[in-house]
Amino acid sequence: MNEQQFKDLKKVSAKSFNDQKALIKKVLAGRNVACQHCGTQIKAVLPDDNSTPGLYCAKGCTNIALDFVL
Ligand SMILES: [Zn+2]
Repeated sequence: MNEQQFKDLKKVSAKSFNDQKALIKKVLAGRNVACQHCGTQIKAVLPDDNSTPGLYCAKGCTNIALDFVL
């Protein structure tokens, strides 16, 4: 991997990280957000639900762990 590829990669991951943060904010605010892949509603699992906190769609293609924001 050369330097330019590395810069591009950092740009992409920063963008998707910001997208994830925006998505998390919407879901935690109680908005209905559909999965971009399958179109089912994304649901938040909170720590007191006794499972891994995160955002999950019905089919599992959206699967964002929330530990980095808690
Ligand atoms: Zn999905």
